[in-house]
Amino acid sequence: MSAKPLRSFFGSLLVLVMPLVLPAFVFVAVLATEAPFLRPSPPHEPRRAYCTWACHNVGCSHRTRLPAVLTADTGLYGTTIHGLFRIGRGLSSDRRTGYGAANLLVLCAGWPAAMYGLVVVALRQRIRIVALRKRGR
Ligand SMILES: [Zn+2]
Repeated sequence: MSAKPLRSFFGSLLVLVMPLVLPAFVFVAVLATEAPFLRPSPPHEPRRAYCTWACHNVGCSHRTRLPAVLTADTGLYGTTIHGLFRIGRGLSSDRRTGYGAANLLVLCAGWPAAMYGLVVVALRQRIRIVALRKRGR
């Protein structure tokens, strides 16, 4: 195996492995610097002049910096939260437990898995295109 295909192989491997490894490192780094390693619940912080966990836990009263189509209760944010509560109803009779489970399933597993799948498809297509170009097609 010459150097170029070997470099291409390791480049492809890096692209496939980084989405799996990097979030774990970032997650651990955030937890190691701001919170205990395993948290039983979201942190309780006081309200401040900027968004904190208090906004996450009980609602945000700060002026938004992003457009309402993203941040409003009728925008992407609100639609997502309401959708997670709807999914959660099918997962648990407890409203908060169902929401938490839906949140983990959709935003922590489903969405990243879908994005990872798209990366794998794009990478396979790229490798195929490069191979076809080398054969002169
Ligand atoms: Zn806030």
